[in-house]
Amino acid sequence: MKIQKTGQPIRVRADHVLEVPPYPLIPVIEGDGVGADITPVMRKVVDDAVFKAYGETRALIWHPVEAGGGARCNSSQTHPLPEETLEILKQEVVAIKGPLETPVGRGWRSLNVAIRQALDLYACVRPIRHFPGVVTPVRHPEDVDMVVFRENTEDIYTGIEWPMGSDETVRLLRFLTSDLGVAPLRFPLTTAIGIKPVSREGSQRLIAKAIQYAIDADRRSVTLVHKGNIMKYTEGGFCQWGYELAEASFGARKREGKRGLWFVNPVTGREIHIQDMIADNFLQQALLQPAQFDVIATLNLNGDYISDALAAQVGGIGIAPGANIGDGTAVFEATHGTAPDIAGQDSANPCSMLLSAEMLLRYIGFREAADFLVTGIRGALAHGFWTPDLIRAAQNAKGGDQGEQPVTLAETGFTLHPVGTRGMGEAVMLYMDVPGALG
Ligand code: NAD
Repeated sequence: MKIQKTGQPIRVRADHVLEVPPYPLIPVIEGDGVGADITPVMRKVVDDAVFKAYGETRALIWHPVEAGGGARCNSSQTHPLPEETLEILKQEVVAIKGPLETPVGRGWRSLNVAIRQALDLYACVRPIRHFPGVVTPVRHPEDVDMVVFRENTEDIYTGIEWPMGSDETVRLLRFLTSDLGVAPLRFPLTTAIGIKPVSREGSQRLIAKAIQYAIDADRRSVTLVHKGNIMKYTEGGFCQWGYELAEASFGARKREGKRGLWFVNPVTGREIHIQDMIADNFLQQALLQPAQFDVIATLNLNGDYISDALAAQVGGIGIAPGANIGDGTAVFEATHGTAPDIAGQDSANPCSMLLSAEMLLRYIGFREAADFLVTGIRGALAHGFWTPDLIRAAQNAKGGDQGEQPVTLAETGFTLHPVGTRGMGEAVMLYMDVPGALG
């Protein structure tokens, strides 16, 4: 007999801990472009993982909400993000979304940015790890296992900037030179100006999340990545405030003759090292010796560059998941865009969205279902079930031309099985039941 499952919203307690019912309502934004390909596959595969883990005793109750090019919106709105959608995302706390289009040079501003701002989702969280079998441009992709916490609300992304020659720029330059004593700029008449606000509160709430994650996930270190040698008060402030927070809130302490701070994980009893690194050096070290890094906390622009650079090291955006998290409220998302060039062709890689769903399941405490899901993804990838983007990437990495003979997986000995979006979903469900599948 089928049990009637009634969805209930997740609640956030005053201490930001979630209260998750057995049948939580999960708002889902299908997304534009390939969203229509990958989102239904994600739902089907996640439902299967939850069923495999809990039978009928738990389930996600999907709550489709509108946003993006396909959303019905009244003419008074400047972009297709209905108020009702934002209200549901707030009320039901944990949601997942496909990619949303941002038209270039016309139309609405980024809906992704609008959602982050409206819900104050201040931490962009991107785990970067390698899946066995996936061919990448680096020799030891398996050494990459990092989680990037990127500040999402400050820095130059606040959009406070003026173009060259504008009245505002002229006034600002006058103010800088006459009131603040800044030396005249080299080319004042052709200078554009942008402002970079970075606050202690904004930095510390992000860094606190990163450190708490390191505690919960039993990670070894948190690296504060910044450019404080040049931008002393903004990027340098981020680093200094990070250390102050680690000391005051987590009891981290110095060690004679060593850089950084240490404290003992209150849950596992193992040590966590808080360290910092200048961003350019970090990008070099992350390529040369990635195994030394674990959790990364960084500002908005650095985080943008770093997460894409690291994603390239492990196989590209098709398999890179992400989440935007605030104090409880969270929106999980595929990190790639709408891929209009392949939309509607059943060829998009659904793994970015599937892995974002895995993060969602862990976030709400459905760990066993998350384990099924990641086992399935790992098994499908390792056994050569690849979508066209992965095949292309492998051929490029091996220096071959597209359309040449199929790549075989030297790493695993399995032969390539080209699949589309739905085929990848089927393969993931198949390998969920193969515990210990490669990797
Ligand atoms: P894109 O990520 O859509 O595409 C870049 C390349 O990656 C394309 O060749 C595409 O085919 C490929 N690709 C992307 N996702 C793939 C997948 N799942 N499987 C296989 N290949 C995939 O980036 P773009 O072309 O710069 O942006 C297109 C639109 O998406 C724009 O409107 C942009 O604003 C929007 N966008 C949205 C998000 C988001 O919603 N989080 C993120 C980035 C871009």
